[in-house]
Amino acid sequence: MAQSFDSAELSDRVAFVRFRMEKAAAAAGRDPKEVLLCAACKSRTSDLVRLSALLPIDVLGENRAQEMDAHLRADAYLGKPCHFIGHLQTNKAGKVAGKAALIHGVDSLRLLTAIQSAAAAQEVTQDLLFEINIGEEPSKNGAAAEDLWPLLDAAAGMRHVRVRGLMAIPPAHIPAAESQRYFAMMRRLLAQIREHHTENTALDMLSMGMTADFENAILEGATIVRIGTGIYGPRE
Ligand SMILES: *Cc1c(COP(=O)(O)O)cnc(C)c1O
Repeated sequence: MAQSFDSAELSDRVAFVRFRMEKAAAAAGRDPKEVLLCAACKSRTSDLVRLSALLPIDVLGENRAQEMDAHLRADAYLGKPCHFIGHLQTNKAGKVAGKAALIHGVDSLRLLTAIQSAAAAQEVTQDLLFEINIGEEPSKNGAAAEDLWPLLDAAAGMRHVRVRGLMAIPPAHIPAAESQRYFAMMRRLLAQIREHHTENTALDMLSMGMTADFENAILEGATIVRIGTGIYGPRE
């Protein structure tokens, strides 16, 4: 796949995203250091990912185990952490556990159990987020908000996972005010589960906000924004 890119342009785009993140944090009265910039690098080449890793990006976010492997082998992250932000298939849990510092999209007991087994086999503790289908959209990834409680109960008995918080993708192409309402629901949901669950948890992360809506997400407490096109340009 031919990808033409220009490192000055990439650097400008990252600087612009950072600037907007800082403005949103200031508007929310938050310390900008509380919000991590995760570059969503799906379908980009290892050379482009490596070039972006030189820039002020905190984390590289992957959607596919295969791409993560290829980028790791090519040393494209330059030692920066990698997060798995896509939908992880149960049979790929072993390929991702122990390599991704955080798995964002855990939305079923089956997947949670597979991650626990893979982490146990490697004698590591895997940090993860539960993904919520906050817009209650049919055939979208993410657990229903009410299914969060049984997932947390299950995780409480799993010694090789640590639940760090929640992730969500609100419905696409909605007005900004509406996306903010969904982000606010996520903020309240995290506050609720914080009160009740302490076993195998450190509930300090809220992964939400993409290129189109990350400022609103920061206003509602996002601690990780996942930016793809805003950094790398349109996907081919
Ligand atoms: C692609 C992707 C993003 C980034 O989306 P953009 O709109 O390109 O910023 C964020 N999160 C996930 C899970 C993605 O797959």
